Amino acid sequence: FVVFDHVQKSYDGQTLVVKDLNLSIGRGEFLTMLGPSGSGKTTCLMMLAGFETATHGQILLDGTNINDVPPHKRGIGMVFQNYALFPHMTVGENLAFPLEVRGLSKAERDDRIRRALDMVQMGAFASRRPAQLSGGQQQRIALARALVFDPKLVLMDEPLGALDKQLREHMQFEIKALHERLGVTVVYVTHDQGEALTMSDRVAVFNDGRIQQLAAPETLYEAPENSFVAGFIGENN
Ligand code: ATP
Repeated sequence: FVVFDHVQKSYDGQTLVVKDLNLSIGRGEFLTMLGPSGSGKTTCLMMLAGFETATHGQILLDGTNINDVPPHKRGIGMVFQNYALFPHMTVGENLAFPLEVRGLSKAERDDRIRRALDMVQMGAFASRRPAQLSGGQQQRIALARALVFDPKLVLMDEPLGALDKQLREHMQFEIKALHERLGVTVVYVTHDQGEALTMSDRVAVFNDGRIQQLAAPETLYEAPENSFVAGFIGENN
């Protein structure tokens, strides 16, 4: 469904921050990119989302070279660590905004907003402002905003990074349940091994712009292919 085919990325024309990346992600899969800061994970999401383009190689989305599809037509929803909700707008207005930009009718907007808020159990909060919500509730709204277009692919970059441990674990469970219910493809970026191992169908362990190992969580844990993977997966466990 998503294919990285010999993808390289350099920001300065010299240093490669993504080095010859090959990765196929299946439809409906929950794939996590796990690795230390600076290993190139976010850059991969940015290329999928259309904020960056590959320096070499190609990325296919549903069989089409991603460069041939404008970002807003890729069917991608995004959730980032700092939820980036507009503080002066209510929850409902935050969700309506991207739909208005695309010219959807009021009836269609209201219907989509209601469905997206119901998905994250926030139907009763449409008239609140972000400041009147807890961190976890704000993150749910950010999730609803990513789902409001019925995306084929959801990209999440450290979406739980700002939350405390207990809430993070709860939200991991909720995101996983939502993934299973919707059957949407998720590419999830984190540097937290526990999070990656709990949530993912497969984990791609990144270091220094390369995938060190791509495997199911239990395989990474039980049969790491090199000392980097063994060390990284072993940390904090
Ligand atoms: P983190 O978890 O800290 O975000 P990451 O694994 O997601 O790390 P990237 O954000 O992809 O890593 O960064 C990979 C490398 O590319 C880093 O060395 C970073 O400094 C560099 N980089 C990222 N974005 C840019 C940019 N817009 N311009 C120049 N260099 C960049």
